[in-house]
Amino acid sequence: MLEIAKEFKLEANYIDGQWVQADSGETFTVENPATGESIGVVPNASGDETKRAIEAAHNAFKTFKKTSVKERVGMLRKLRKLIIENQESLAQLLAAEQGKPIAEARGEVRFSASYVMWFAEEARRVYGDTIPSPWADRRMIVTKEPVGVVGAITPWNFPSSMLARKIAPAIAAGCTIVCKPAEATPYSGIAWGKLCEMAGIPNGVVNILTGDPIEIGKELTGNPLVRKITFTGSTRVGKILMSQSVPTVKKISMEMGGNAPFIVFDDADIDAAVEGAMASKYRNSGQTCVCTNRLFVQSGIHDKFVEKFAKASEAMKVGQSNEEGVVQGPLINDAAVSKTEEFVEDAVAKGGQIITGGKRHALGHGFFEPTVIANATLDMKFSKEETFAPIAPVYKFETEEEVIDMANDTEFGLACYFYTRDLGRTFRVMEGLEYGLVGVNEGVITAVEAPFGGFKESGVGKEGGHQGIQDYLEEKYVCIGGLGI
Ligand code: ADP
Repeated sequence: MLEIAKEFKLEANYIDGQWVQADSGETFTVENPATGESIGVVPNASGDETKRAIEAAHNAFKTFKKTSVKERVGMLRKLRKLIIENQESLAQLLAAEQGKPIAEARGEVRFSASYVMWFAEEARRVYGDTIPSPWADRRMIVTKEPVGVVGAITPWNFPSSMLARKIAPAIAAGCTIVCKPAEATPYSGIAWGKLCEMAGIPNGVVNILTGDPIEIGKELTGNPLVRKITFTGSTRVGKILMSQSVPTVKKISMEMGGNAPFIVFDDADIDAAVEGAMASKYRNSGQTCVCTNRLFVQSGIHDKFVEKFAKASEAMKVGQSNEEGVVQGPLINDAAVSKTEEFVEDAVAKGGQIITGGKRHALGHGFFEPTVIANATLDMKFSKEETFAPIAPVYKFETEEEVIDMANDTEFGLACYFYTRDLGRTFRVMEGLEYGLVGVNEGVITAVEAPFGGFKESGVGKEGGHQGIQDYLEEKYVCIGGLGI
């Protein structure tokens, strides 16, 4: 059992700088997905509490938008320092509610700190424009202003860093924010409230609510005081939030589902490709939106690749997050395991060949065996749907044109990966793939410095990179006339 430090395991919501319970007094239980044990209970807030949090954020915005960039950078630096100082407690909390190996949880917390640092740096570079004026007696400038109150909804797969990508640019830009973390992993979200309180971020600037996703979502998207919605999660829910945001014409940033192809050409360095595929497929037990969903391997090296990849998959140590050497934890809940079983059954019924794994792990609860399935075909469920599981279907292909078509044959367009040592092919394939993130001879490419965001139904907008702060800003064109020049 993981030791969970008390200072960040808070069972209250953070609204306008106050620690409060739901109006109804109701709570919901949070479970450790590796053991099924209850970790504790958090408030089950609803629409009214959300409305109050929005109003607090709206009031706080009136003064927060006037703070100097230097003040906001100071706050972000303090926030980053606190995250680093409390890395171990935050990682334990995260691992307990999410199930990921403690090393990955520590990495995620450090990644959150990097986002905070990145946006502290970017805050200083929110430049406007001076436009050469077509009128002799007028001058034209473009300034940037914070959009206002932001509503943020985040998923359970990266309960800390998905909020970092939203809270840090909001503060950097001078916005205020109301956040709703996922029900499965609310503690890491609430911890952001504590960190912001400790960092001296003014009351009402960052608010954290846990509870009913539908009611909280309706208020965040429907309330006219909210000027922007930022969401990370499934395409299904993202579409609901987009449509709910239409009547009040909110700005939206959406990081939604993926169906990442991982393509290995005959000329690839096969060991590097296996290593990349392992990292890209099994990170967080396959539960990331940039995880490889489909592996396409050219016929000349297909058998050799499958053999090596299956061997590496079999060698993975599956277990509790605090066990030595564990690289794969459980899936988030039993529904996720049942869905994984369904995908495997569907593939086998259609001619898929299980090379390794294929069933629930002997450890029980959320655990599933790392699974490699050869003879994958386009009619199998995982060809179209995101698996979010440690199952790796392998499709055999012959030509470059054919594989580009197969890789693009999805409504998603978030991440893709390919391995080749041919320079011409590198550019042809990179340009042919309709994806927002492309890894060439690399299986893990996310970095705070780079823009993260999908094409097609995978999303709208970018997080991270110098682009990441722009979504939190409005551009204002100002024409100054009557200068008498
Ligand atoms: P996942 O499939 O990764 O769980 P979801 O899209 O279901 O992704 O969940 C992501 C976030 O969206 C979570 O915080 C969840 O509570 C929230 N959510 C789910 N349904 C709704 C909804 N109808 N309105 C607003 N938020 C929702």
